[in-house]
Amino acid sequence: MTDAEALIIGAGPAGCAAAIMLARAGRHVLLLERDAEAREIVCGEFLGPTAQAALARLGLDPVALGGALIPRVVVAHGSRAARATLPFAGIGLPRQVLDQALRQAAIAAGAQLVTATVRRIAAGRGGWTAEGATAPILLLATGKHALRGAPPRPGAAWVGLKLHMTADAAPEVALLPFPGGYAGLQPNGTGLTLCAAFRPGALLPADAGAFLAMIAGASAHGAAMLRDARPMWTRPLAIAGVPYGHVARTTPPGLFRLGDQAAVIASFAGEGMGIALASGIMAAEAVLAGRDAATFQAAFAARAVRPIRRAGWAAAGLCRAPGLATRIAGWVPPAMARVALATRLGRLGFKDSVVHKLVLPDKGDHRSEALSRQT
Ligand SMILES: Cc1cc2nc3c(=O)[nH]c(=O)nc-3n(C[C@H](O)[C@H](O)[C@H](O)COP(=O)(O)OP(=O)(O)OC[C@H]3O[C@@H](n4cnc5c(N)ncnc54)[C@H](O)[C@@H]3O)c2cc1C
Repeated sequence: MTDAEALIIGAGPAGCAAAIMLARAGRHVLLLERDAEAREIVCGEFLGPTAQAALARLGLDPVALGGALIPRVVVAHGSRAARATLPFAGIGLPRQVLDQALRQAAIAAGAQLVTATVRRIAAGRGGWTAEGATAPILLLATGKHALRGAPPRPGAAWVGLKLHMTADAAPEVALLPFPGGYAGLQPNGTGLTLCAAFRPGALLPADAGAFLAMIAGASAHGAAMLRDARPMWTRPLAIAGVPYGHVARTTPPGLFRLGDQAAVIASFAGEGMGIALASGIMAAEAVLAGRDAATFQAAFAARAVRPIRRAGWAAAGLCRAPGLATRIAGWVPPAMARVALATRLGRLGFKDSVVHKLVLPDKGDHRSEALSRQT
């Protein structure tokens, strides 16, 4: 394998964003990815304004890729549901479609994408080595997957499940707490995405049918959304050990930690892909400006820590007191929009980007419907 100016491990949103930016600037980029084709992974598939702005910067439009606009949010528990207009329009898009488009953009920019499962990385005299290739810098973008030689991350036992379904759906994301965690249910352009985060020790459903029954049993709104839904897989996709709240503040010389390796926000916020894409772009900018990895990592951590902390609080409130959280969402109309804004990484200077109907904080702009009851 030939040497490169930058080694990137993982062709998810973080790795591809960095690869596109560096390759466009003329750097020789070697992108190592274990899966030959992009595939579905556990993700709620909600693209918020940070992700949209970053994608625009990379030359991708998720709506043109078939994504569904999502201008509203509903919180529902038991017989109650509270609905609000989001302060921005989210976009729902299957991960396989997004990740494939990102890989194609990286190749088009000039990055060399090689299928390889990296077992370990090591620092040496020539820089960082992985799978026999060496480069002065390594950008670690393996998502939640650990690697030998990489800095350890705190263990955590949250589990994520995802299921795609064929169904018609209103243009809104539903946040559905259930005993043991919370789920997001939303249109994705071709059907529905159901994604759930389970607390440590929570009982997991055995198959797709049990998963749907669990969500439908937790709220009348969830049951209504799932009434005509048909699962596309017999079992949901799963991931274990999700370290919500993790923020990497330090890093060894020459090692840039991106995406979930840099920071993991509660899934409830729908901001993980925004963090991943933004970290890839910002790391590439740091490399091109000659800044070292430690400076980048500290700056990115400082940026990410507040929205991650707030998302953790909001997710804990939703899980521990779902009935109260649903009532508050109905009693205080702008509350959901405020939480949605408080859990964003921010525009990050992507001001030249076109973002779908992005409306930044304007106190009078959050319409909300009163708490409603469904049977
Ligand atoms: C339950 C749940 C719901 C979520 N919902 C949302 C949501 O609605 N909106 C949102 O924005 N975010 C959401 N997220 C978060 C989002 O999925 C992640 O933050 C995002 O995918 C991180 O991107 P990444 O590029 O860092 O990693 P990934 O997307 O995981 O990509 C990592 C890549 O590295 C590759 N790789 C891994 N190990 C190796 C190796 N050893 N060698 C070579 N290649 C390797 C993988 O194959 C993969 O392609 C959710 C997460 C969970 C768990």
